[in-house]
Amino acid sequence: MAFCVTIRPSFAEIPASDLGEQLEQAESLRTANHPRFLERLAQLRPRTPAMSMAERWHLRYLDAWEASFQGDYAKAEPRLRDVIEHSGDPALVVKATAILMDDWGSNKRYQEAFELANQLVEKLPGTQDKLARFVALSYLSQLLRSAGQYELAASYAHEMGQDLPAGEMACKPMTAEITALYETRKLTSSSAQLQSALDACQAAHESVFTHTLWLVKGSLHLDENQPSKTIELLQRIAPGVRSDQYYSNMLTLQVELAQANLRLGRDDAARKAALAALALSDPSEINETLRDAYLVLYSLDKKQGNTAAALANYEHYVAQDVGYLNDVSARALAYAMAKQHVIVQKLETEKLSRQNNILRLQQALDAKAVETIRLYIILLLMVLASAVLWMLRLKRSQLHFKKLSSTDGLTGVYNHQHFMGEAGKALHLLERRQGTACLFFIDLDNFKHINDTYGHATGDAVLRRTVTICRQQLRPTDLFGRLGGEEFGILLLDCTREQGIAIAERIRRAIDVAKVEGDDRIVTFSASVGLASTEYCGHDLKRLCREADAALYRAKRAGRNRVIADTEEDGLVEA
Ligand code: GH3
Ligand code: MG
Ligand code: MG
Repeated sequence: MAFCVTIRPSFAEIPASDLGEQLEQAESLRTANHPRFLERLAQLRPRTPAMSMAERWHLRYLDAWEASFQGDYAKAEPRLRDVIEHSGDPALVVKATAILMDDWGSNKRYQEAFELANQLVEKLPGTQDKLARFVALSYLSQLLRSAGQYELAASYAHEMGQDLPAGEMACKPMTAEITALYETRKLTSSSAQLQSALDACQAAHESVFTHTLWLVKGSLHLDENQPSKTIELLQRIAPGVRSDQYYSNMLTLQVELAQANLRLGRDDAARKAALAALALSDPSEINETLRDAYLVLYSLDKKQGNTAAALANYEHYVAQDVGYLNDVSARALAYAMAKQHVIVQKLETEKLSRQNNILRLQQALDAKAVETIRLYIILLLMVLASAVLWMLRLKRSQLHFKKLSSTDGLTGVYNHQHFMGEAGKALHLLERRQGTACLFFIDLDNFKHINDTYGHATGDAVLRRTVTICRQQLRPTDLFGRLGGEEFGILLLDCTREQGIAIAERIRRAIDVAKVEGDDRIVTFSASVGLASTEYCGHDLKRLCREADAALYRAKRAGRNRVIADTEEDGLVEA
């Protein structure tokens, strides 16, 4: 047994004040007062130029609805598509999609209808407009029921009742839910849900819906093997069903009556009711209720031995059954295919997102690897830099120590050891190219006295001053060292004895006129110089030292503050 519920929203009339409101009002009249709706539509169409874009789209939607209502699907489809694709009004889009889906369902374009159903289900969470949601849920519930998806159909019908738009009652969604639940075989004739739906529809004076629910209850009595209860119920509602003139209910009532009477053995009553059902319908029609009517007739003829009639009715029954089942299968298949399509899309999306994740992971790893390499390079550079720095510091400290070990702390000139070493090497080189050199030993005169008179610090200042004076007379290639105490050594390279004596004399004089401040007094000092030349003494350092020392000794003995150079005899003595 199938119960057909057609839900069309109906509204109380609202006084019109502007075009927008008139459009709303027209929409509310669609099924409640269809002729008035057509009048309004005719009045509104010429006023299109005065309408806003939103109002024009609303009018276009109403025109599409009307075409669909008239069954002129060829006219309705492009208009509905236009609204769906271009109106930009979410509520209109949802309503137009729902109608197009319903039209396709009615035209056996099941595959397309279910694909549209998927789109509609996706749009629902974002649909705020209560009427649009109500309409969409209603058509979805209907379509899913037709595909044998009764649980889903019931849950959509249930959702319809959760947030009713203005002017709608709980009766319609409750009836839709009951008719879907009936198919799941979860209902019993004493079900509280069925009773509350009946109460709601009776309270709302919704006669057609109330009778649909009573017919559900009648069928449940039959399922529960209580045919007399069915007959009792049907007799009670029959006048009302007749006055409703709702085809589906009238057909169902007759078939239920036929089935109940057949069970009770009231063959004549059963036949009468079954034939009444057939009389109501179009001969080309194929549906579940007519199938049941033919089955009753076949059972009666078989029982009464009317073989030929039984065979004819059986053929009708089979034709109805196959036709009906084929249609149900086509719808179920379309539903499954659309669902499959969604699953495939979902899988593809998931696959894509998985691939994206892998790609992102790969990129992250690559970035990590680059980062690691970069870190290694930075680390390596840091190690290299610190090694270079460390080597530079080492070199510097080496140089520092070398300088410390080779220079005199007080005056900054070579110390004794370094001076002698450098002088030895220089003389050796000089000897090979037959160059000349002069070695001076300079000793400050009566230096002990300066220390004693002006203090040790003044003595140090005199020593530093002596070094400065000497440097001023020397070339960078000349060697200069402190031999100890107040005695200095100078090796003039590429210098003849004569030039050397002149330089020594200039140094002595410069020292003699120099002044250093000490203890608030000006300190003057002098130096004696002993000179030995390679010209007389050769290039041996020891020999030169000995002769320079001897000359210095002679200078001291001669009265200090003078330069004494070696003599030709010195060279001869040695030779
Ligand atoms: P002469 O004219 O014979 O050379 O007499 P002199 O006093 O210069 O020589 P002597 O060798 O008697 O004295 C040298 C003094 O130099 C003794 C020592 O205290 C002093 N002296 C040695 N090294 C330093 C030093 O680095 N700084 C100071 N201020 N005095 C030093
Ligand atoms: Mg001395
Ligand atoms: Mg001295």
